[in-house]
Amino acid sequence: MKIEKFNTEIDTLNSFFKTYCQDNHDRQEKRNLVLMYNDKIFDLELSLCSQCYMDIKYCFDRLKQCPHEEKPKCRKCSNPCYEKNQWKNTAKVMRYSAVKLKLVEVKKRVKSFFTN
Ligand SMILES: [Zn+2]
Repeated sequence: MKIEKFNTEIDTLNSFFKTYCQDNHDRQEKRNLVLMYNDKIFDLELSLCSQCYMDIKYCFDRLKQCPHEEKPKCRKCSNPCYEKNQWKNTAKVMRYSAVKLKLVEVKKRVKSFFTN
Protein backbone atom coordinates (compact mmCIF):
# COMPACT_ATOMS: atom_id res chain seq x y z
CA MET A 1 0.00 0.00 0.00
CA LYS A 2 1.04 3.59 -0.36
CA ILE A 3 2.94 5.44 2.31
CA GLU A 4 0.03 7.84 2.91
CA LYS A 5 -2.32 4.96 3.44
CA PHE A 6 0.09 3.28 5.79
CA ASN A 7 0.48 6.50 7.71
CA THR A 8 -3.29 6.93 8.08
CA GLU A 9 -3.69 3.36 9.24
CA ILE A 10 -1.07 3.61 11.96
CA ASP A 11 -2.44 6.97 13.15
CA THR A 12 -5.90 5.50 13.41
CA LEU A 13 -4.68 2.47 15.30
CA ASN A 14 -2.68 4.66 17.63
CA SER A 15 -5.50 7.02 18.58
CA PHE A 16 -7.99 4.18 18.98
CA PHE A 17 -5.79 2.02 21.15
CA LYS A 18 -4.92 5.05 23.26
CA THR A 19 -8.55 5.94 23.88
CA TYR A 20 -9.45 2.38 24.74
CA CYS A 21 -6.47 1.81 26.97
CA GLN A 22 -6.89 5.00 28.97
CA ASP A 23 -10.49 4.13 29.75
CA ASN A 24 -10.02 0.47 30.50
CA HIS A 25 -6.51 -0.15 31.75
CA ASP A 26 -4.01 1.32 34.17
CA ARG A 27 -0.34 1.89 34.06
CA GLN A 28 0.21 3.37 30.66
CA GLU A 29 3.80 4.03 29.82
CA LYS A 30 5.22 6.30 27.21
CA ARG A 31 7.24 4.42 24.63
CA ASN A 32 8.72 5.37 21.35
CA LEU A 33 8.29 3.00 18.50
CA VAL A 34 10.04 3.28 15.18
CA LEU A 35 8.48 1.63 12.17
CA MET A 36 10.03 1.28 8.76
CA TYR A 37 7.92 1.00 5.68
CA ASN A 38 9.17 1.35 2.12
CA ASP A 39 12.31 3.11 3.28
CA LYS A 40 10.34 5.62 5.27
CA ILE A 41 10.70 5.91 8.99
CA PHE A 42 7.73 6.51 11.25
CA ASP A 43 8.55 7.59 14.73
CA LEU A 44 5.59 7.10 17.02
CA GLU A 45 4.99 8.02 20.59
CA LEU A 46 2.70 5.55 22.28
CA SER A 47 1.09 5.83 25.66
CA LEU A 48 -0.28 2.38 26.37
CA CYS A 49 -0.20 -0.36 28.97
CA SER A 50 2.07 -3.28 28.21
CA GLN A 51 -0.77 -5.47 26.92
CA CYS A 52 -2.05 -2.84 24.49
CA TYR A 53 1.50 -2.13 23.45
CA MET A 54 1.91 -5.77 22.43
CA ASP A 55 -1.44 -5.71 20.67
CA ILE A 56 -0.76 -2.59 18.69
CA LYS A 57 2.63 -3.89 17.69
CA TYR A 58 0.94 -6.99 16.39
CA CYS A 59 -1.38 -4.80 14.31
CA PHE A 60 1.52 -2.78 12.94
CA ASP A 61 3.34 -5.95 11.98
CA ARG A 62 0.33 -7.27 10.13
CA LEU A 63 -0.10 -3.95 8.39
CA LYS A 64 3.52 -3.86 7.33
CA GLN A 65 3.20 -7.30 5.85
CA CYS A 66 -0.04 -6.64 4.07
CA PRO A 67 0.74 -7.89 0.57
CA HIS A 68 -1.92 -5.86 -1.20
CA GLU A 69 -0.99 -2.99 -3.41
CA GLU A 70 -4.38 -1.42 -2.71
CA LYS A 71 -5.18 -2.54 0.78
CA PRO A 72 -8.71 -3.98 0.91
CA LYS A 73 -10.90 -3.64 3.96
CA CYS A 74 -9.57 -6.16 6.39
CA ARG A 75 -12.93 -7.91 6.65
CA LYS A 76 -13.08 -8.44 2.94
CA CYS A 77 -9.58 -9.67 2.61
CA SER A 78 -9.20 -12.92 0.72
CA ASN A 79 -6.20 -13.79 2.82
CA PRO A 80 -6.84 -12.53 6.37
CA CYS A 81 -3.65 -12.21 8.32
CA TYR A 82 -4.92 -11.64 11.85
CA GLU A 83 -5.15 -14.54 14.21
CA LYS A 84 -8.70 -15.01 15.39
CA ASN A 85 -8.19 -13.83 18.96
CA GLN A 86 -6.15 -10.86 17.92
CA TRP A 87 -8.79 -9.96 15.41
CA LYS A 88 -11.54 -10.07 18.00
CA ASN A 89 -9.55 -7.98 20.41
CA THR A 90 -8.67 -5.36 17.84
CA ALA A 91 -12.26 -5.15 16.62
CA LYS A 92 -13.37 -4.58 20.22
CA VAL A 93 -10.89 -1.75 20.69
CA MET A 94 -11.93 -0.10 17.43
CA ARG A 95 -15.63 -0.37 18.18
CA TYR A 96 -15.24 1.03 21.67
CA SER A 97 -13.22 4.00 20.57
CA ALA A 98 -15.46 4.78 17.62
CA VAL A 99 -18.45 5.08 19.92
CA LYS A 100 -16.48 7.03 22.45
CA LEU A 101 -14.97 9.50 20.05
CA LYS A 102 -18.22 9.95 18.14
CA LEU A 103 -16.58 11.74 15.33
CA VAL A 104 -17.90 11.34 11.85
CA GLU A 105 -14.42 11.48 10.46
CA VAL A 106 -13.24 8.77 12.77
CA LYS A 107 -16.24 6.61 12.04
CA LYS A 108 -15.48 6.82 8.39
CA ARG A 109 -11.97 5.68 9.03
CA VAL A 110 -13.09 2.77 11.15
CA LYS A 111 -15.48 1.81 8.46
CA SER A 112 -12.78 1.66 5.90
CA PHE A 113 -10.57 -0.23 8.26
CA PHE A 114 -12.93 -2.79 9.62
CA THR A 115 -16.42 -3.02 8.26
CA ASN A 116 -17.74 -4.57 5.13
ZN1 LIG B 1 -4.18 -1.09 27.75
